[in-house]
Amino acid sequence: MPDRAGNQPVIDDEEVLAGIRKWVEIETPSPDGAAVNQLADLVQSDAMSLGAHVDRVPGRDGYGDILTVRSPWGGDGPGILILSHMDTVHAIGTLADANPYRRDGDRVYGPGIFDMKSGAYLAFYAFQHFVRAGLESPLPLTFLYVPEEEIGSPTSRQVIEDTARQNKYVLVTEPAHGGLCCTARKGVLHVDIKIHGRPAHAGSRHQDGRSALAELARHIVALEDLTDYERDITVNVGLASGGSFINVVPAEAEAKVCIRAPETSMLDELRDHVLSLQPLGPDVTLEIAAEINRPVFPRGPGTVQLFEHTKEICREIGFELEERHSGGGSDGNFTAALGIPTLDGLGADGHGHHTLDEYILFSSLAPRARMWVRLLETLT
Ligand SMILES: [Zn+2]
Repeated sequence: MPDRAGNQPVIDDEEVLAGIRKWVEIETPSPDGAAVNQLADLVQSDAMSLGAHVDRVPGRDGYGDILTVRSPWGGDGPGILILSHMDTVHAIGTLADANPYRRDGDRVYGPGIFDMKSGAYLAFYAFQHFVRAGLESPLPLTFLYVPEEEIGSPTSRQVIEDTARQNKYVLVTEPAHGGLCCTARKGVLHVDIKIHGRPAHAGSRHQDGRSALAELARHIVALEDLTDYERDITVNVGLASGGSFINVVPAEAEAKVCIRAPETSMLDELRDHVLSLQPLGPDVTLEIAAEINRPVFPRGPGTVQLFEHTKEICREIGFELEERHSGGGSDGNFTAALGIPTLDGLGADGHGHHTLDEYILFSSLAPRARMWVRLLETLT
């Protein structure tokens, strides 16, 4: 992309990494709104110095603020939404201790560097590249930075969906596992189960008790058995608790279940099933709530077209972009479910998201920064 004077502005991967490092060194666990807002401050001031229009909505429920950054060009017409999250799953202190920022050969480590600070920064860098070159992308750009994606985006979902509806394309800066981008994701159903039994002395009146925990245990086994790898359905009872004291028959128990499936009809079927669960033992009651946490991200025709276009760009740059279907959800699920062409997994290549070994590959930064510039330059 030559600038107005015909010069080719340089993509400098050391500069890209220096920018990523700044974002990584502000630790941003999702539940810590104040911490996430420190990163929002940095993104906001960097964006404003590039002449962008910034809109900041105060956080709710203890989460950080939602930041919308618009290119100074292109007006309000439908354009490209670039979707990023500022939060990570890592607690404050991870940087000082379990996964400090460091380079080891081609690998660069740090909490949240792969998921997804490098991806978010790569897209930001591409925007900066346009501004420096004095050029404009054909479509207006809207960057949305949300504070709590790792929790399931409870406070930002509406903003994501509203903003996506105003755009032609959505590009999501989630990590590129194994270099692959993502053209489909499973839907996620969250289920809360509460069981009410009857307390009794565990010794003298055991027969009067109705154990909520024993009831829950039977449901846990039955629920986990709904896992069907052939249909790509997984059921995970991730949390369970109950009881009050060792010698009391437990009156209360509860569990949280995460169900994932590749098709909406499967999720609906599973939701109907769990909502119709009945007590297995006498004198206990069940209280069940189920909600689709993330709708299915289907591999729609618009997304396929967007992928083919991006693949062509990557080929010109010199690497092969392949696609994958992911079991993990992202904010891309919300936008793809609305039927808006959405391409996800456009961040850096690396490994180990949500772990303390998380890293990116430095060698992936330059080609992917080029990919971003070309994408913003060619989407019309
Ligand atoms: Zn992520």
